[in-house]
Amino acid sequence: MSFLVGVDLGGTKIAAVCTTVDGKVLSSVKIPTLAAEGKEAVIERIILSVKEVISEANVTDILGIGIGAPGPVDTEKGLIIAPPNLPGWDEVGLRDIIKEYFGVNTYFDNDANVAAIGERWFGAGRGYDDFIYITVSTGIGAGIYLGGKLYRGHTDSAGEIGHMILDIDGPVCNCGNRGCFEALASGTALAKRAYEAVQEGKQTSLSKLQEISAADVFSAANKGDILARQLIERETTYVGLGIANIITIYNPERVILGGGVSQAGEVFFEPVKEVVKKSVFASRARNTEIVAAELGSNAGALGAAALVLEERMDRIG
Ligand SMILES: [Zn+2]
Repeated sequence: MSFLVGVDLGGTKIAAVCTTVDGKVLSSVKIPTLAAEGKEAVIERIILSVKEVISEANVTDILGIGIGAPGPVDTEKGLIIAPPNLPGWDEVGLRDIIKEYFGVNTYFDNDANVAAIGERWFGAGRGYDDFIYITVSTGIGAGIYLGGKLYRGHTDSAGEIGHMILDIDGPVCNCGNRGCFEALASGTALAKRAYEAVQEGKQTSLSKLQEISAADVFSAANKGDILARQLIERETTYVGLGIANIITIYNPERVILGGGVSQAGEVFFEPVKEVVKKSVFASRARNTEIVAAELGSNAGALGAAALVLEERMDRIG
């Protein structure tokens, strides 16, 4: 029997798992990235996390190691290309470093693609050839499956839907443009809007909090806070419009929603579905299924493990 190792490298934490080929987690570890200590120290911690999950699972036959990293990435060369939350990582050949260290086939992709691959093999994408995975979290990103294959685009840049521009007069985005989907509708954007409303002196229970997160806004809305409800309505309208645009372009079988904001549940999903139904162009696509991602807190690392299967199948197929 062979086993998979998946590593999710994030700006704040490194998560690793060792799994069976059908996605059963045998061991897992989460450690802080401590990105400020520099890339050599972070790479050492990645190696340590891989060693740990392998030894804890007590297995030897590793089919491959998958790594998900913040984009942009070059999947062909296995490079991380200067992500904003990993300072000093300019074109780092992480894939080959890990491959050489462990002497095992190692595969590499950006975190949104890896999460989509995880859903395809082990979650809500099983049995679906055409689906879009969308994460709404601190940022917004997507992984696109067309005809049973992940679509990466000509230069690995497909699925950067967080930077679709939805409002030319909208707020400035981290990328420098104005009115990007994620500047309007990410969890960070929602929290920021709530903070601004409090600063403007608007009446809301949120004004009692030291810091406001997206989850705080959802919870205040659930308790009847009027300002929080208005913020959620705006949030779900933009998320719905973004998803409607994606459905209009790709006509998928289903859309899978993951990331922190999606964990708010029905209070998020119901209004998003309403907006999608009203806004998708083709009538036959208006009822595209919108479902929650199935892989929970280990989604990134599990997806990275699934990347091994996806890439190996690619070679055989
Ligand atoms: Zn942007």
